[in-house]
Amino acid sequence: MSLLKVEDALAQLLADVSPTETENVSLHNATGRVLAVDLKAQRTQPPFNASAMDGYAIRADNIRELPTKLQIVGEVPAGYVFPDIVHNWEAVRIFTGAPVPEGADAVVMQEKTERDGAFVSILQQVPKGNNIRPAGQDFKEGEVLLKRGTELTYRHLALAASMNHAVVPVYRRPVIAILSTGDELVLPGDKPSDGQIIASNNFAIASFAQTIGADVLDLGIARDDMTEISTTIEKAVAARVDCLVTIGGVSVGDHDLVQDALKTAGMDLTFWRIAMRPGKPLLAGNLGATRVLGLPGNPVSSMSCAILFLQPMIRKMLGKEGPYRIDPAICASPLPANDYRQSYMRARLGKDAEGRAVASLFSDQDSSKLASFAEADCLIVRPPDAPASKAGAPCQILIL
Ligand code: AMP
Ligand code: MG
Repeated sequence: MSLLKVEDALAQLLADVSPTETENVSLHNATGRVLAVDLKAQRTQPPFNASAMDGYAIRADNIRELPTKLQIVGEVPAGYVFPDIVHNWEAVRIFTGAPVPEGADAVVMQEKTERDGAFVSILQQVPKGNNIRPAGQDFKEGEVLLKRGTELTYRHLALAASMNHAVVPVYRRPVIAILSTGDELVLPGDKPSDGQIIASNNFAIASFAQTIGADVLDLGIARDDMTEISTTIEKAVAARVDCLVTIGGVSVGDHDLVQDALKTAGMDLTFWRIAMRPGKPLLAGNLGATRVLGLPGNPVSSMSCAILFLQPMIRKMLGKEGPYRIDPAICASPLPANDYRQSYMRARLGKDAEGRAVASLFSDQDSSKLASFAEADCLIVRPPDAPASKAGAPCQILIL
């Protein structure tokens, strides 16, 4: 049986995913949010010719011979406007950020002057425009300075504020509901009975989804029971979440009931089982407007599928470009020929003498091993049917 390739599965999953609607948030709440429009400056900055120094606003032609004594006719701090004109042989005491008075065409920094009561001696010649930041030097009203799709950081927020935006239009954070399934699962801190283990994937997926910009609705753990799984699926649908992520129960075992429960709830299946290792049992579908991703239960499979499928989906809902980054590296280990499945293998990342990234493969790639996933820095990506390669051969990695 030929299974769907990873890139084809991703294309099918993303085919009709579109960005969430836009909401306005205050600058204080906008860190990490994604801009939903091209943002135009609502103001020119600086809005006037501004002094770049504490000093004296003068006419450059008046100081061709040194020292020149000028009469001080006033003072202008930042935030005020000098109400008069600077005439020949006059100076205005000026401070950084203040508008340069009419008539003046240069500012001499105070360190190059000597004050004597109502007069100031200028000790240095300066060209016209000296120490003046012309109006609009930074940006002009109407200019687009921040592009749609920008993930807002402190630098962008400073610019948005200066452009006179108190709020910014951003994409709503998609809501991801997470449902764990399995009779064997209890929460950390609870007392497991014989045969039970502690649920971990739900924490990984929730944290990951939040990190990449989503909000999470935790639906807890459902037993391997049709009624219980179905009831919880209904909760997700009723909450109108953007995506329901189920964990476990999507393989071919007698207790893997998630697909049936989803179909009973009305899910249109997009795909089930793909040519990927780990993560073969991955399922995708639509429950009305709610996307469904059924992740396999094995922890490393679960997280790998989240990186490769949930992440691009959330990114697209947030109007971001590209699914995830793949980087080149050198593989420190020899690799056997690959079969038909695209593989993602845990590895540690280092550098060689030339500073190139070198990935050292972990010997055990068992998809249940959380400790090795926590220790890994990257996944080596092996395309289907890749031939065997020697240590030192180039490879592709996905940095964790
Ligand atoms: P399943 O896909 O339900 O057959 O589960 C495969 C393996 O993953 C089993 O060993 C489960 O115990 C384990 N598993 C399923 N869900 C979780 C979870 N939320 N946290 C940790 N392990 C899980
Ligand atoms: Mg199970």
